[in-house]
Amino acid sequence: MLKFSNNPTKHLGFESIKNSRLLLSSSLYLLMALLLALSFSLKADTLTLPEFQEGTLGKYLQYFQEAEKRLTFSQAQKHFQQSSVKKGSSNSISLGIDVAPAWMKFTINNTNELAEIYRLSVETPWLDNIDTWLVKDGNIIQHIEGGDAYPYEKRPMPYRFYAFEHSFKQGLTDVYIRIETKGPMAIPIHFSTVERAINRDIASGYQYGLLYGIMLALALYNLVLFVFIRQKEYGLYSLYLIGFVLNSLSYTGQLHTIITYDFGPYFQDWLDIFLMITYSVAGLHFARLLLQTKFYALKLDQFVKRVTIVIPAGMAIGFVFDQLFFSMILAFLLNTCFAVLFIALGIRALMANKPFAVIFILSSVTAAICITISTLAVAGFLVPYNGYTFKAIEVGMAFEAILLAVILARQFRMAQLDKVIAETYARTDSLTQLNNRRGFQELTQPIWQSIIRAKRDASFVLIDIDFFKRFNDQYGHDVGDKVLVKVAQCIQATCRKGDISARWGGEEFIIFLPETSENQALLQAERIRAAIELLEINIIELPLSITASFGVAGTKESYFQDELLTLDTLEPMINSADRALYLAKQKGKNQVCTPK
Ligand code: GH3
Ligand code: MG
Ligand code: MG
Repeated sequence: MLKFSNNPTKHLGFESIKNSRLLLSSSLYLLMALLLALSFSLKADTLTLPEFQEGTLGKYLQYFQEAEKRLTFSQAQKHFQQSSVKKGSSNSISLGIDVAPAWMKFTINNTNELAEIYRLSVETPWLDNIDTWLVKDGNIIQHIEGGDAYPYEKRPMPYRFYAFEHSFKQGLTDVYIRIETKGPMAIPIHFSTVERAINRDIASGYQYGLLYGIMLALALYNLVLFVFIRQKEYGLYSLYLIGFVLNSLSYTGQLHTIITYDFGPYFQDWLDIFLMITYSVAGLHFARLLLQTKFYALKLDQFVKRVTIVIPAGMAIGFVFDQLFFSMILAFLLNTCFAVLFIALGIRALMANKPFAVIFILSSVTAAICITISTLAVAGFLVPYNGYTFKAIEVGMAFEAILLAVILARQFRMAQLDKVIAETYARTDSLTQLNNRRGFQELTQPIWQSIIRAKRDASFVLIDIDFFKRFNDQYGHDVGDKVLVKVAQCIQATCRKGDISARWGGEEFIIFLPETSENQALLQAERIRAAIELLEINIIELPLSITASFGVAGTKESYFQDELLTLDTLEPMINSADRALYLAKQKGKNQVCTPK
């Protein structure tokens, strides 16, 4: 809980004064500060119109909190006159959660003969009961009641905050405000001409529109990805973003200008805290899945899981027993856990060398810093309260959303690369790295069709290693494998550019030779046969040699004239090559044959 001191000497830090000269100069400063504070306290709570156009009122306010019993207006007025009260020292007064009601006072001095219309707004929408009394010449001229405990249509203005507009006549008007709430007593009061208030609302509408627009567009896009890809991360990420936008709409009062039905005085407070947990829970589960923490940080992973069950369950119990304060504390605890655990998950991922860990930490730390800025601004502590610091949380979350989207996109890309690798794998023979039968057919079929339609030449060569079974039996299967690799390399090295080779099965290979007639293919096959015959295989101590038989089938003049070719498939031609291979084997192996 933050309390503000009205004693300006408190911050001067006497411990640091080490010698008398310093002491002297410090005393002078102290005197000056006291004089300044004195002159300030005389005028500090008076706003002069029309000079004052727009600003937050924290610094102009005198305030105190009710001790035990509720004060009447005249008792409070007396208290301001007779007792010592505190002075606001920053833009927003913040007193803690579930604290005693606060009374505030300031004075408006309109130096103009004409009345000036101004709007006063208390810009935290969860404050339950807010009463303002306007006092002129010792008489109450208006009492304005509002706060979120009032049904929407009974509030002074149909607006997302407690606000009213008043025409301040010439001279002094005292303004007294009493605020009572079960939630955080953060009181940023904004006061401006009506024209400026309207312009500010319009600007604010654009700013929120942009931030929510970014987040909702990302949310919808990821929802679509989730529906079609069925990967939980996308769904949780979408839920996280939608949850955050709803939460933001709620605690900035915007949602409650839409849901205006009167569900009772504390509906708005309950809705605020339940929306707070939705995005925290979705966000934490999203982080767990994205970073796959269960594989390397099981304890942290389980802790996160437990936090997202136990705290909301506790809040639900609080709801059943109507304990708003209890549930609210749990909601704030979960929100704090959310920021801390997000960073912790990122650090564990970084330690485990997970991809994206750095971006993840960058995004969560940025978001945490922005959340802290907004919280401190509302608390009136260290950070000045203004439109930018109050919206820092949304800016931080939008930034985080974009970085997380980058991570999801990169994950998508990696999955795509995995798919490409898997597909290549499915087309490649793992032993020889040549195409396998499937890869060969996929590659050659389209080329074959276009070549035949254009009545150009193409041929196939089937190769079968001779006596390979015997070879295997003699030297072992492992040596056999190595020989297969050697032969494959030899075939590939001897092939021309544009030829497509593959392992057809066992110890059989195939080559497709586009733009090559059967006669030309015969010569090419002979070259390969010679190369295999000359291959020196030094796998075991004694050098081994191997031979292979070849069957060649390809286009000849007569094929096109007789229309013997079936245009669509390779099969007839490969069958011919197979017949030729059989011939070669029959004729004594280690030779090239064409079909009879
Ligand atoms: P031929 O001269 O008539 O072709 O006789 P062969 O022994 O080469 O032919 P056969 O079809 O009888 O035997 C083929 C052998 O190839 C049988 C099998 O052990 C061997 N083989 C098939 N695939 C592999 C493999 O991947 N690795 C090894 N090491 N041997 C294989
Ligand atoms: Mg064989
Ligand atoms: Mg063989």
